[in-house]
Amino acid sequence: MKILTHNDKNRIVQAIMAAEKMTSGELRVHVEKKAGKDPFLRAQEVFQELGMDQTRERNGVLFFLAVEERKFVILGDEGINNKVPADFWEETKEAMAAEFKESRFAEGLMEGIRRAGEALAKHFPYRHDDIDELPNEISIS
Ligand code: CA
Ligand code: CA
Repeated sequence: MKILTHNDKNRIVQAIMAAEKMTSGELRVHVEKKAGKDPFLRAQEVFQELGMDQTRERNGVLFFLAVEERKFVILGDEGINNKVPADFWEETKEAMAAEFKESRFAEGLMEGIRRAGEALAKHFPYRHDDIDELPNEISIS
């Protein structure tokens, strides 16, 4: 099940790059067919597999999609989770779900990236010594 065209992927990577110009935080998108278990638990595994728990300020955010199961999870590391309001991720998720419902997957992801990017920028502004700690490319398995 292919939900993202080549062009969609480019747009998403551009959105990640734009967001990361404003923050030291790191955003990643991971897409797989099936989580095969509780999607939240699977997202936690992927978070570790991608080394997202290794950022200096613990401010990585993962967008995890299990397309055949029509599930998705937004998972922030403890640095950012300690800063945002308790309902922030849920609200972001709802905004994304509204797009996904219309099969607008790229738009949904870009909306999530934009919102997460804003929150990251507020709490973890861009630093001049910033390094791109995690690749911006979409990870697919
Ligand atoms: Ca960075
Ligand atoms: Ca990055």
